Amino acid sequence: MVTGEGMKDLSILIVGGGIAGLTSAIALRQKGFAVEIVEKDPDWSVYGVGIIQQSNVVRAVEQLGIIDDYLEASFPFERIDVFKPDGELVAKIPAPKLTDKYPAQLGIGRRALQKLLADKAISLGTSIRLGVIVTEMQQDGSGTQVSFSDDTSKHYDVVIGADGVYSQIREIIFPEAPAPEFAGQGVWRYNFKRPADMDSLCVYEGPIGTGLVPLSEELMYMYVTTPEPGNPRYPTEGIAKAMRDKLKNAPPVIAEYAKQITEDEEVVYKPLNWLMLDGNWYQGSTILIGDAAHATTPHLGQGAGMAIEDSVVLAEELSNEASVETAFNAFMKRRAERCRYIVESSVAICKGQIGEGPLINNAQATGEMFKITAQPI
Ligand SMILES: Cc1cc2nc3c(=O)[nH]c(=O)nc-3n(C[C@H](O)[C@H](O)[C@H](O)COP(=O)(O)OP(=O)(O)OC[C@H]3O[C@@H](n4cnc5c(N)ncnc54)[C@H](O)[C@@H]3O)c2cc1C
Repeated sequence: MVTGEGMKDLSILIVGGGIAGLTSAIALRQKGFAVEIVEKDPDWSVYGVGIIQQSNVVRAVEQLGIIDDYLEASFPFERIDVFKPDGELVAKIPAPKLTDKYPAQLGIGRRALQKLLADKAISLGTSIRLGVIVTEMQQDGSGTQVSFSDDTSKHYDVVIGADGVYSQIREIIFPEAPAPEFAGQGVWRYNFKRPADMDSLCVYEGPIGTGLVPLSEELMYMYVTTPEPGNPRYPTEGIAKAMRDKLKNAPPVIAEYAKQITEDEEVVYKPLNWLMLDGNWYQGSTILIGDAAHATTPHLGQGAGMAIEDSVVLAEELSNEASVETAFNAFMKRRAERCRYIVESSVAICKGQIGEGPLINNAQATGEMFKITAQPI
């Protein structure tokens, strides 16, 4: 493995061009490393709903040096409005801010986020190959020889597996690791035109979890979390009706929006799968980040946040430490416990909601999460 002076010129392969892969490319290019990404999807497609980003993520994005573009592409909000099933507003919870300069939280479209991250990674000199996967990896004393599906082969000092919850790189370096587990729920999402007064995260209590998230001046999205015993598949044809059916007993505001859920192609349904890798997330000079190492259910809205923080920390440690191994060790010390807390607390909320564990007070758990994630990374 590379040590000493050689650390300045590390050549790094990132497998996966999602949020973890692109943010790590940005952070590593800014430290001066040579970075290549291979992405399996030839179209690099991203589905068209959005995600919530908490104040710790806004802070991490500032550290990445892309805060202005990020704020421009998103919709900031400062509070969470909680409604009873009958639609009555019961609480306006201020979201904690970590700096006066930036919003407490924001919503951002996945496509808008992907575009700004990809543009930045490319402008910083990251080479990206689409429709390419790893076919073979051979670790040696100084790194890894990697062969690709486009019949090329190259030696890298470091390989980063950022290839998501069903990570191929995890299977290669940790063949014994458990497979991702279905959590018992699915999430349905749909975009709507944002009314001018929809300027906060709106959460509706009730037997199924529902919320509205502003994404931009024009757009907001609805999420609906439902128990899905047996993990059924929903074909595209008829899925809009299936989503409307799930909302039959929804609070009045949500039921009104549900009437607009008419386009099958616009419904995004995902069964929730999770995974938390025990022990180190690295083997030799290959390391896993993001969902490849710690895929959470979205109950605390922190999965992508943890991926972005991983990227910032990994680049810092590779540039500060004297060897790849000590950098990976230092990375684990800063990331393992924090990511485990997010995964375990999120899954516990999910299990409580489907009656497979004690019911967790979501507002209390969210308050605790804000305190913990406010700690420096
Ligand atoms: C319903 C739902 C709602 C969510 N809401 C939020 C939220 O509000 N806030 C939040 O912070 N997080 C949220 N998340 C979590 C968030 O989406 C993930 O944590 C985040 O996308 C992880 O990023 P990643 O880059 O690690 O993985 P991915 O986004 O899965 O990206 C992996 C990339 O690797 C590519 N790839 C896969 N296999 C290979 C291979 N073999 N070779 C090359 N490339 C490969 C894929 O095509 C993809 O581009 C939510 C998740 C779900 C399911």
